[in-house]
Amino acid sequence: METDLLGRRKFLAASAGAIAAVATGSRLARAQTGKNSSELAILGGQPIRKNKSWPSWPHVDEDVVNSVLNTTKSGIWCRIQSSHGTVPTFEKKFAEMEGATFCVCTGAGTQSLHTSVEALGIGAGDEVITSPYTDPGTIASILAAKALPVLADLDPESFQMDPEDTRRRITQSTKAIMPVHIMGQPCNMDRFMEIAKEHRLKVIEDACQAHLAEFRGKKLGTIGDLGCFSFQTSKTIACGEGGAILGNDEQLMDRCYTIHNHGTSRRGRTEMPGPKYRMNEFEAAVLLGQLPTAQERFELRNKNANYLSAQLKGFEGITPQKLYEGTESGAWYLYGMSYHKEHFNGASRSTFLKAVAAEGIGLSSYIRNGLHREPWIDYILGQRIYQEMFSQERLESYRAETACPNCDRVCQEMVMFWSSGMLLGTEQDMDDIANAIFKVHENRDQLQQIEKS
Ligand SMILES: *Cc1c(COP(=O)(O)O)cnc(C)c1O
Repeated sequence: METDLLGRRKFLAASAGAIAAVATGSRLARAQTGKNSSELAILGGQPIRKNKSWPSWPHVDEDVVNSVLNTTKSGIWCRIQSSHGTVPTFEKKFAEMEGATFCVCTGAGTQSLHTSVEALGIGAGDEVITSPYTDPGTIASILAAKALPVLADLDPESFQMDPEDTRRRITQSTKAIMPVHIMGQPCNMDRFMEIAKEHRLKVIEDACQAHLAEFRGKKLGTIGDLGCFSFQTSKTIACGEGGAILGNDEQLMDRCYTIHNHGTSRRGRTEMPGPKYRMNEFEAAVLLGQLPTAQERFELRNKNANYLSAQLKGFEGITPQKLYEGTESGAWYLYGMSYHKEHFNGASRSTFLKAVAAEGIGLSSYIRNGLHREPWIDYILGQRIYQEMFSQERLESYRAETACPNCDRVCQEMVMFWSSGMLLGTEQDMDDIANAIFKVHENRDQLQQIEKS
């Protein structure tokens, strides 16, 4: 409560400062105004940020190192050697932390998603609706099951899959929807759950970017039938490569275990087909070493993200990711914004990114093309299994309905940064980010020079 109040007071102070700055024609924090701000660094001026580094990622401390050392010495390197090894221990702790009853770890987020699709009995001839604005692992999981990924367009302000477009794309073959919590912030789960109920669809949450984030009092990944996480190096809890499935249905989670264990159940019987997707003990050792401080970093990213968004509030040139009502926190895997070039004298996004980089702030454009624009669609439409499992008519309508214009727009306007390093910085670091953007905006008449050169 106390920190909350403090946060609010700082927020107000920051807003008051921003309003005062607008009144005098400048949004730059006082310390940054003056001769430093009148020429862009890319044209030879003084950069906003110089000789300062960001917190490094991935997180490594003594606990992580000792945990791996202990696993090495123990000789327990594979989960089936002991029920008290690092993998079963991490599964219990992670489930507890996320408020789920059961957890099965795998070797990657993609493996968790694929296992979930198979466990729900989805395969050849079935359709799963998901987002085109995501990691390729999302659709890889559906394709691995020989099902058809159907891509729904985005809400261009939240960068999230649009529930209404999702609803429009439901067919008789649709078995599940796979909402992706992009950038680690909640998608519109109220609507997705309503639509799923109405059409009797399963919901697999792709929470691969969304560790610990909350929507209406529930952690992401625990709202649908199954929730999948990734621990790949860039994610906010990381071990190089790794994944987890969360769920509350014991039978379904038991099936997940069997499938991920080459079809062999906990009872030792080989019961069905399945890949071998077990997490190894070294991966879980890294995760266990990291877990005690994960919540602290999560809270820091939320605090910094809220502070930065408050700085950008009301600024027309850049709009941060829209958050849905019900969002209580985000994982802030990425901090994403839309760039509006009409407020930057028409300068292209790449010119803007270069100018901001010269000020000492690295922003990136993230996903270049939505998955609806990648060649896999032609590939699968030429495959016998798809030609045999779907009618000619369905494949033609599928081909004709791949357009996702809002996703195209998001791909063009996105400017973002990876939060695991940057959002773990100080308030001053957040001011640097905002000031670099504001400085480029104030000197936008200089941007044409860069564009031409
Ligand atoms: C990282 C990621 C995946 C895939 O996870 P891996 O561990 O890399 O296989 C899937 N979906 C989203 C949204 C991701 O960010």
